[in-house]
Amino acid sequence: MGGERFAHKTENGFDRCIRCGLCLQSCPTYLETMTETSGPRGRIALMAEVAGDRLPCTSPGFVEQMSQCLGCLACEEVCPSGVPYGAMLEGARAVVEAAQAPLRSPAARRRRHFLLITLFTHLSLLRLVAAGLRLAQRLGLDHRLERLGLVARLGLENAAALAPRLPERPFRARNQRIEVPGSRTLAFLHVGCIMPLVFPSVHEATLRVLPHAGCACIVPNDQGCCGAIALHSGEPEAARRMAQSNIEAFERSGAQSYVVNAAGCGAALKEYGRLFADDPAWAKRAERFSACVSDICEFLDAGELDPLGSLELDVTYQDACHLGHAQRIHDAPRRLLARIPGLRLVEQREAELCCGSAGLYNLLEPAMAARLGERKVRNIIETRASVVATANPGCSMQMDAGLRAAGARVRVAHVVELLDDAYRSYEAGTRSRSASASSNVR
Ligand code: SF4
Ligand code: SF4
Repeated sequence: MGGERFAHKTENGFDRCIRCGLCLQSCPTYLETMTETSGPRGRIALMAEVAGDRLPCTSPGFVEQMSQCLGCLACEEVCPSGVPYGAMLEGARAVVEAAQAPLRSPAARRRRHFLLITLFTHLSLLRLVAAGLRLAQRLGLDHRLERLGLVARLGLENAAALAPRLPERPFRARNQRIEVPGSRTLAFLHVGCIMPLVFPSVHEATLRVLPHAGCACIVPNDQGCCGAIALHSGEPEAARRMAQSNIEAFERSGAQSYVVNAAGCGAALKEYGRLFADDPAWAKRAERFSACVSDICEFLDAGELDPLGSLELDVTYQDACHLGHAQRIHDAPRRLLARIPGLRLVEQREAELCCGSAGLYNLLEPAMAARLGERKVRNIIETRASVVATANPGCSMQMDAGLRAAGARVRVAHVVELLDDAYRSYEAGTRSRSASASSNVR
């Protein structure tokens, strides 16, 4: 049942697990259920059974656990034995997908392929769908279609409930180029698939902030989706095709750095080396590419910044799993926030616990996603902060929806948006200082 192929992909992770249980308290699904099978150790035991061909990969318990796992990698980060849980989960999901694909009806297969692969390979198509959704939202048709059951028939009922109101103008990569005299590097901005449609303001803020770090930047229009959604859905071949196209775009651009402001994309882009480890034609190129990738927080934190203006705000920071656990970046965003004069950083309880978004998780596992979302919202509200900062679009959408549902007036912002606000505040302060200086002269 695919056990041999799966075992090959898991880098002997089963042998490395010493069953110490140190990962349990960091696992969101274990904390919610307190059951062994819904924790990392139980899932690893199930994977070992499948890899040893003692359990079919189609067994309901195995399929359920591979789906219920968030892929948040909190367990991998705390594991003293270095169990490569993320790679093992990827392998397990690919095996489940290979077994399930032939059982689907042709219509279901086409729909899945369209939603997970076609839309993310052809971003112009995704933009078209987003334009339709934007129009439906403006005309109030989205709720009407939902009531008629049309959205459910497409298997998108949770997507419709979670879909944020799309902004009027999406961000478009149009080969923009921002020159900075004496710049320290030329940065390639990764635009991605969902970010430009839902959070164009984060890209705009990034382009305004990078020059304050002495960086020139470009936004090439031949880039695409990072492939994370395909990879996490058990479609590694599709993910590799998307990765190849991004590597080529970066090589053509002449940029030295590849900057990403979505933690999920950044984690996937940094893994291209591993994605092509068995492909001699691409392995070196992929490794070189991944070595140039930086999350915007680590990138800005590593260098000098122009002086920031003051923001009198209480801000709490939520660690995005794919920034904290996957990329091990915890301090850089906090240090950046601490650089803003007047801003008070208030730590929340369980800041590193997944909010339940996890890519498509809140569509596939809505009940667990909702429980984790409510837990996160309670922890945020408890801080009494007026802003929750994070660094990933999925977390932003999940927290925003949860906070609104709870009636809490808390702004959700990317770290780079707060830096951008601080630069505006600095410029406003400079303008008012020079206006009062010139009125004193008169
Ligand atoms: S912490 Fe690591 S070694 Fe210990 S049970 Fe969890 S996965 Fe296994
Ligand atoms: S990836 Fe996250 S949800 Fe999955 S087993 Fe590890 S800690 Fe638990």
